[in-house]
Amino acid sequence: MNRVRFAPSPTGFLHIGGARTYIFNWLFARSTGGRTVLRIDDTDAERSSEESLRSILEGLAWLELPWDERHYQSGRKRMHREAAAALLAKGAAYRDFTPQDAAPQESSAGTRAAWLCNPGMRELSKEESDRRAASGERFVVRFRVPRERGNGVFFKDSIFKKQFRKFADIEDFALARANGDPTYHLASTVDDCDLGITHVIRGQDHLSNTYKHVLIFEALGRELPRFGHLPLLLGPDGSKLSKRKHGPIVSVTTYRDKGFLPSAFVNYLSLLGWSPKDNREVLSVDELVSLFKTDGVLRANAVVQFDESSAQNWADPKALWLNAQHLRSMPVEQLLPRVETEIKRCGWWTPEYEAGRRDRLTAVVDALRSRFTLTTDFALRGKAYFMDAFDLEAKAAANLDKQGAREGLRELGKRLEAVDDFSEQSVEAALRSLAAERGVKPGLLINGARAALTGQSVGPSAFKVFTLIGRERVLERLAGV
Ligand code: GLU
Repeated sequence: MNRVRFAPSPTGFLHIGGARTYIFNWLFARSTGGRTVLRIDDTDAERSSEESLRSILEGLAWLELPWDERHYQSGRKRMHREAAAALLAKGAAYRDFTPQDAAPQESSAGTRAAWLCNPGMRELSKEESDRRAASGERFVVRFRVPRERGNGVFFKDSIFKKQFRKFADIEDFALARANGDPTYHLASTVDDCDLGITHVIRGQDHLSNTYKHVLIFEALGRELPRFGHLPLLLGPDGSKLSKRKHGPIVSVTTYRDKGFLPSAFVNYLSLLGWSPKDNREVLSVDELVSLFKTDGVLRANAVVQFDESSAQNWADPKALWLNAQHLRSMPVEQLLPRVETEIKRCGWWTPEYEAGRRDRLTAVVDALRSRFTLTTDFALRGKAYFMDAFDLEAKAAANLDKQGAREGLRELGKRLEAVDDFSEQSVEAALRSLAAERGVKPGLLINGARAALTGQSVGPSAFKVFTLIGRERVLERLAGV
């Protein structure tokens, strides 16, 4: 059975690149009957924080793609130490007693050879190494890159294909720090082995780590998982997408807070670097699962388009468009709780919605959603459907100010008070006959009514608006113009 993992370090927020990695892992697992492991890479106690962990878990939970297992890397330190000891015992690793501040850096000219293989330390005899360790001298455990074995490391990446790096370009990297804590390379590889990970799917920025991981897997005598590295996400300026450069657009919670639907967000991210054979774009999570294939993953970097200075295009227009598509095509019952959350956030939730008048709420949501992009639009542009106090937009005010509009609307209110059955048809009939009697265009009353009832100049069909607002409130609003 395929087992994949997503391994965030709780040292920051959930980046949309991280979310995309999680989504690709999840889709791959689901589409092949496999399992998803969430592994929290929290071995670096100094950089990890509770707050970051909470925000990453919150962001992931919002995607509504549940993981099957959760593990904390910090709980597996014993296994990491044992693996370091096993590699030392085999001679695949050695102790480096060079004081930290004297360790050679790759960058300093003339020290490249020293950086690569720590002369003097690499060749220490086992006896001397054991003696110095036993005497309490501090050391780092380094991997002994097997340069005598050949030219370099090969592996096959399912996206980037054949990968090769010369041993001459791989330094004897650290496996364990002086305090005994594992480095990322060791912890990640040991956990991938122990947790039975069959496919490692992660960002392209880890490609250069994979050579080292392949060496560790081999030295541990473990089978290699398959690797697939996902192309980078770039900003509109062509540079790697980062919060420092590109701002809040990079954080998953921004999309949640601005009113994205998880299904649309997942749909959008899934198309950043992958496309189904038939190039369909609006896809539900179930459809994504049935269409997802890793051979559809593209090697080219994907660009997130947005315009920081524009209120309209604060996010990628494609993402906004997909959200609008999901908003109008999802089952309305699934949308209701999300709108409910919005309305409650605004303090507009009234007991009438609880008391058996959910039908009206459903009808309102259903009528409005075809004009909206985000769930927050219900709060921004739907207030008149939920509350008695609402703003009058300038364009709508102009419609009300047209000659004869106010008197006509007050009269319309009186007539509607008298109709037996308050429906779109009866409202339309009353409005048209009144317009004819008064010698005005029906449009004068239609636009005026929309303004009086909703404060807006556009919206769902005007006669529908009457029934959505409900007779009682229509009469009040028309009388009050
Ligand atoms: N904790 C690493 C990161 O967040 C995990 C990388 C990996 O998937 O191996 O970059």
